[in-house]
Amino acid sequence: MAYAAQDNRYGTMKYRRCGRSGLKLPETSLGLWHNFGGADDFKTGRETILCAFDSGICHFDLANNYGPPPGSAEITFGKILKNDLLPYRDEIVISTKAGYDMWPGPYGEWGSRKYLLSSLDASLKRMGLDYVDIFYSHRPDTDTPVEETMSALADAVHQGKALYAGISNYDAGQSAAAFCALRSFGVPPLIHQASYSMLNRWIEDGLLNVLEKEGTGCICFSPLAQGLLTGRYLDGSIPKGSRASRDGFLKSSSITPELIKKLNALNSIAKEGGRTLSSLAVLWILRDKRNTSVLLGASSPSQLKENLTALSQPPLSAEELEKIEGVLKG
Ligand code: NDP
Repeated sequence: MAYAAQDNRYGTMKYRRCGRSGLKLPETSLGLWHNFGGADDFKTGRETILCAFDSGICHFDLANNYGPPPGSAEITFGKILKNDLLPYRDEIVISTKAGYDMWPGPYGEWGSRKYLLSSLDASLKRMGLDYVDIFYSHRPDTDTPVEETMSALADAVHQGKALYAGISNYDAGQSAAAFCALRSFGVPPLIHQASYSMLNRWIEDGLLNVLEKEGTGCICFSPLAQGLLTGRYLDGSIPKGSRASRDGFLKSSSITPELIKKLNALNSIAKEGGRTLSSLAVLWILRDKRNTSVLLGASSPSQLKENLTALSQPPLSAEELEKIEGVLKG
């Protein structure tokens, strides 16, 4: 059936300015790393993306290698765009990245100009787009001069193939150097995409300060720690079909009794406040205004809807934050 977006899609979502740029992003965005590849169920993926858009999520995050197989998430997204979302293209911020292993040989990964610009062309082709909104260097490359990597991002912007440039997985020092290079090519650094959750707080140790000083936004990936900060693993078992059951990026061996205890303590705090654990995790990230958007993953519309309940709830109170801190530091 032909898709028509909900009229009230901007009714509940809030939007935060991305650093000191003119671009606002929704407080939660949707990422297509898992669940949208050629090996995944297309119908569920489509329903999840349309559910997101109907909920005010107007930012979708991709990368050249998302699948499996690599590239297929962009193909899936391109199909949904063509059949359902094209009339809304101007309402949508689409990002893609290059940096990880994509094709054989010396030019299929890392940070050379050769790789980044050919990868962007291939991403545009797979998605059927003339431009993406944000193009990222997916990871730092210490063997390539940062000026070369940043000049490739800047040229993508100057050529109109990307509207903005971003970096991902760079540490505080690498970010400062990259931003300086990017500015020298006339492109302000829009955004940094970094892992961040209640279980992974590395960006508090310097990176957030750099981003604030530079006027660069921060979008936080794996905010639910790949599903750990949801109800999925609270009873200590590994549910069939869950990410941990596939033993890929989330290892079942990492789900230890100590971790289960911590997750249950966080879940108790969530329950006391009438929240779910996933909504607690989302609101915890949003407590810091420097975090522009929480970049969620979801394997179904129902998961997404549960996580979005956070946005109609009051922010975490000082008392809740203190209790959470006690659990995380305990
Ligand atoms: P999350 O931490 O949000 O994990 C999402 C996964 O958690 C879902 O696929 C699902 O897994 C599970 N889940 C989510 N909600 C629920 C729920 N309510 N109940 C039960 N289980 C739930 O994020 P991701 O790790 O998926 O990362 C999000 C995005 O961040 C990616 O798509 C990508 O865009 C970006 N990213 C960027 C990286 C980078 O290097 N720049 C690296 C990694 C991610 P399941 O159902 O399969 O168990």
